[in-house]
Amino acid sequence: MAKAESEHKLQVEKPEKLDKVEAEPRPSEKQRGGGAAKDTENPFEAAVKNFNRAAEVIGLADNVREQMRLPERELTVHFPVEMRDGSFRMFTGYRVQHSTTRGPAKGGIRYHPAVTLDEVRALASWMTWKCALIDIPFGGAKGGVVCDPRTMTVGELENLTRRYTSEIMQMIGPQRDIPAPDVYTNAQTMAWIMDTYSMAKGYNVPGVVTGKPLSIGGSKGREEATARGCVVAIAEAASLLGKELSGATVAVQGFGNAGSIAARFLHDEYDCRIIAVSDSRGAILNRSGLDPHRLLIHKRETGSVVGYPDADSIDPGDVLTVDCTILIPAALENAITLRNADQVKAKIIAEAANGPTTPEANQVLAGNGRLVLPDILANAGGVTVSYFEWVQNNTGYYWDEKEVGERLYAKMVRAVREVFSTAQKFQVDMRCAAYVVAAQRVAEAFCVRGIYP
Ligand code: NAD
Repeated sequence: MAKAESEHKLQVEKPEKLDKVEAEPRPSEKQRGGGAAKDTENPFEAAVKNFNRAAEVIGLADNVREQMRLPERELTVHFPVEMRDGSFRMFTGYRVQHSTTRGPAKGGIRYHPAVTLDEVRALASWMTWKCALIDIPFGGAKGGVVCDPRTMTVGELENLTRRYTSEIMQMIGPQRDIPAPDVYTNAQTMAWIMDTYSMAKGYNVPGVVTGKPLSIGGSKGREEATARGCVVAIAEAASLLGKELSGATVAVQGFGNAGSIAARFLHDEYDCRIIAVSDSRGAILNRSGLDPHRLLIHKRETGSVVGYPDADSIDPGDVLTVDCTILIPAALENAITLRNADQVKAKIIAEAANGPTTPEANQVLAGNGRLVLPDILANAGGVTVSYFEWVQNNTGYYWDEKEVGERLYAKMVRAVREVFSTAQKFQVDMRCAAYVVAAQRVAEAFCVRGIYP
């Protein structure tokens, strides 16, 4: 330890503080939506709030907390992109490295009109906690570009991606910071990033991004990894609770990569009934069950789940409050807030999305006895297989799908059990327990490394 050891020494447990932390505080009338209590809707503030709760439970010293809360590095870029009609438009993008304490920074790139620096900061910090919780040697990062890919041509998206890659080139690299797909980016986006970076270096650098196409060093099982991890977490949680998944009803908000594939796995492998689904254009319901395969074909053909012949149209908000066993928020932040948390009927909420529940809504869900599999646990399958992809790129030896699946399964099951046992040990809710496991690991690494110079 480099300096002032006592100042930033890790304090793992402080029993005397535990009795000050309410195990499962019952929400007040106000928090239930009846009064003036307010949601923390700024995603970075919400992320910090969740971290602070865990830091309190494990009694982290104030200066260690501050170091762990704040992002290490942030870059904002404004850049021109040539559009199809020959004109150019200016775009704004971000890359934030929240932590490199446990390894290179790791995190996806989001293309969305509502991207903000605070959202990217939050997403970067969730990556830090997620990588620590699932125990892979990465820190956390995230990137975003303010744009609406749904209104852009493929050529415009390629131009935007290549220029954004050039703008953040100084920050990324296989040992530095490794992007991956997120909302409205995919394997093709990663291929453009890999190619742009490799051309600048003068040789192929597959390990600069994960979630690539298989033909250029992607990993088998990566596309399904987030959904696979989410479903393994649900199955393990159900088994720890002594519950059967067969016949369970499921609602999914956001029928994209994470949501649609999770629906497919639950339908095909666990005999669950998918009853409600939404995307950015609307929502549908069929209590007898939707066929996720046919629904996906309909979405590919028409661009939305809306208009699927075997279902009724419903209000998009109702997907979150429909009577069902399992709710999978798989879209964006702030889906479950004080406005609707009390109406959520699902027994298990598996957060495939990042930050779908505000900290205040989380308290309501926990108080109502809902089991929340928090984002940093439930969607950790994606980054876990991204790690496997990076390992394969670095060694040049590629695994078959079975090996990827078995290693992912082992990681997910271990993390779910750890979160359950930590929740019991400290008498806290699942989200707090997940942050406790993660924060302990990051704090330990920070303290053992000390401070340079
Ligand atoms: P995606 O772009 O493939 O899908 C997003 C889906 O959400 C789309 O179907 C879109 O129509 C829908 N959507 C957008 N706004 C919505 C709204 N207001 N209501 C309902 N649906 C809406 O993105 P994805 O990769 O599946 O990511 C979804 C979530 O999962 C994000 O929070 C992301 O951060 C998280 N996540 C993704 C990965 C991954 O590997 N892709 C890993 C971890 C976490």
